[in-house]
Amino acid sequence: MLVERELDALVVSFLPNVFYLTNFTGSSAVVLVTRGQLHFITDFRYLTAVETSWATPHGCPGASLVRVGTNYDETLVGLVKAVGVNRVGFEAAHVPFAQHARWAAGFGPGVNAVPTERIVEAERVRKDAHETATLREAAGVLTPAFDRVLAEVRPGRSEREVAARIDWILMDSGFERPAFETIVASGPNGALPHARPGMRRLAAGDLVVLDLGGVHDGYCVDLTRTVSLGDPDAQARRVYGAVLDAHAAGIAASRSGATAREVDRAARGSLERAGLGDAFGHGTGHGLGIEVHEEPWLRRAEAQPAVPAGDAGSQPTPETHVVIESGMVFTIEPGAYLPGWGGVRVEDDILVTDEGPEVLTQVPRELVVV
Ligand code: ZN
Ligand code: ZN
Repeated sequence: MLVERELDALVVSFLPNVFYLTNFTGSSAVVLVTRGQLHFITDFRYLTAVETSWATPHGCPGASLVRVGTNYDETLVGLVKAVGVNRVGFEAAHVPFAQHARWAAGFGPGVNAVPTERIVEAERVRKDAHETATLREAAGVLTPAFDRVLAEVRPGRSEREVAARIDWILMDSGFERPAFETIVASGPNGALPHARPGMRRLAAGDLVVLDLGGVHDGYCVDLTRTVSLGDPDAQARRVYGAVLDAHAAGIAASRSGATAREVDRAARGSLERAGLGDAFGHGTGHGLGIEVHEEPWLRRAEAQPAVPAGDAGSQPTPETHVVIESGMVFTIEPGAYLPGWGGVRVEDDILVTDEGPEVLTQVPRELVVV
């Protein structure tokens, strides 16, 4: 990955990328990858843990361990000078401006700091056998946990109380932590795709959007179900059915060779035909792995942020023209949000295989009435 970019070394400081390269789970470390050697810089808090865990099969054998002296920046600068490299890449999307300035000043005129993007991220998009096994296991923990979650959705409880109970269930089921802030959006709050759980109390007749996930061995799974408190009315049934159809269309389109945009198109087109195109304002899905939101992004091109290039308007935006390949893991999560009424979202985690899409999360998808 260094040779084709004409780099002598790459500084990896974004922790999800550090974890990907080394399986380090602590909160402070920097990696310097040179052609032929991985240097791992950490401080005394993690040294013993690193030395012990790297003796295991999933550790990082062969890395050279560097203990932080005064601070990380000085240690990195000293190491870069000691290994004698000239063109040193850094992760432009993740390095604060002030830190870059400290590195550049420390490197001096002999070392060229080169901004790079997506070097490690590009490797992470396709999961290897160890990663897919971990994600399968994680989904296997989440599926039974959801049965316990359903038992906590009761009229009279506040969204925040239900969210706290869900977080407890996630931890009690064996997850290291929730993968993100759990969403419990009841009644009209369901119209806000990223609603924060508040003090509204669940009431009979509500649809309740439950969006939850956990981290297992460093990998994230993510699930949404919408449940009905009591018998759903005709409108709730209709909207739910349309979202479920879009969800099925998105999964069916999740095959290697399709573009990310085509997968989005399949789900979105289904909702448009049901008259709910305007009610679906976000992307169809996102990649899952070390981060709960990562590549590939399954969304329409016009939802893309502007590409910082001269005539980007006439070019395809690269992200949504990403071609789906075996080994990719992502969510399919269409929704319909009707202000004043509420919302419906159904989300599952998909692994793309040579045989087609494999749905990792195995929770029933029909509207559950609690
Ligand atoms: Zn989710
Ligand atoms: Zn999601």
